[in-house]
Amino acid sequence: MTIAGRIAAPQGGVRERIAESIAEFVALRQELHHHPELAFQERRTSARIAALLEGWGYEVTPLAGTGVIGTLRNGAGRRLAIRADIDALPIHEATGLTFASAVPGVMHACGHDGHTAILLAAARYLAETRRFRGTLHLIFQPAEEIGQGARRLIGEGLFDRFSVDAIFGLHNWPGVEEGRFGFIEGPAMAGIDQVDFRVRGKGGHGAAPHEAVDPVVAAAHAITALQSVVARNVDPLEAAVVTVGAIHGGAASNVIPDSVEMKLTLRSFSARTREVLAARVPALLTGVVQALGATAYIDYRPGFPAVVNHAAELRIAREAALAALGEGAVLPTLAPRTASEDFAWYLQEVPGAFLFLGNGEGAPLHSPEYRFNDAILLPGATLWAALAEAFLSGDIQ
Ligand SMILES: [Zn+2]
Ligand SMILES: [Zn+2]
Repeated sequence: MTIAGRIAAPQGGVRERIAESIAEFVALRQELHHHPELAFQERRTSARIAALLEGWGYEVTPLAGTGVIGTLRNGAGRRLAIRADIDALPIHEATGLTFASAVPGVMHACGHDGHTAILLAAARYLAETRRFRGTLHLIFQPAEEIGQGARRLIGEGLFDRFSVDAIFGLHNWPGVEEGRFGFIEGPAMAGIDQVDFRVRGKGGHGAAPHEAVDPVVAAAHAITALQSVVARNVDPLEAAVVTVGAIHGGAASNVIPDSVEMKLTLRSFSARTREVLAARVPALLTGVVQALGATAYIDYRPGFPAVVNHAAELRIAREAALAALGEGAVLPTLAPRTASEDFAWYLQEVPGAFLFLGNGEGAPLHSPEYRFNDAILLPGATLWAALAEAFLSGDIQ
């Protein structure tokens, strides 16, 4: 199995062919943007996707409520999955675009409308040209933003019903050059966990602290001690973040409250570091608070693991980008992102890679001013099409 063998598959003209119909997908992207739908409510969106896929000859299977799987078979061969996320966010759009959200308080502020249009543009090309051997499964996933879509698809038997040899996904990235791809080796996006922490003491008069157990002082010591986790427990060659993002307690200067509540976010890039945080943070919070006579109540809420790219699949995607779009389309380097993605769950099940596509300068993801850049639909769709042809080349065993 060699890269040379893969790239021997015919790839000429992919970009040109997709370019012929890209205007339709720009219009589709703007239509999806105008009708954003929140997690697990993407009924209009998934009906639109299903109808298009059926029209192009895909077998369409609904899964996980509003999820859609489009399958295209072209003889015996390998099985490839490509995923796009389809949900919007509870944000009130402030772009002023003519096709801005028609739904107050709901917005495609993460570009999932763009990811969907990119995959659909590739889907149409692949159905019309069929220059591959094997099976293609296109996964249109709901509810990425609440971190539940991928898990629910897997829980409903995604990989039992549709066995795949590899899976790929991408995310647009504001601040990265328009139309250029980033291929990050190994950990690409952070794992995330949350801790809800309550310190229970004994309330009393602010003038008689000896008769109370002060949860404010205990919470302050706990926050200070938390700084030692990254500094002293995490391997210095690994990255991690421990942030106390919220703290609430008390209401008056002369009253010692009964309790103080805190919310923490924990970020990590490897299973090992994630385990260190999961062990040390609760142990330290409990120990410090108990030493000061208070009681700790800890709700440790696991989120996603880190997105960890598989080396062979990342290389295949990179080679496909070089072959179809040229060297200018590939960024020499891109640093891992501290944001999180539920694509991580797929990569725990099957080999694959998660790629980044520059959206150009502009407002960040999840901003009410964020604008998906329609100029990246063409390179995005070209990459998916070229990758499918390379991965599902008849020459490859
Ligand atoms: Zn998002
Ligand atoms: Zn997103």
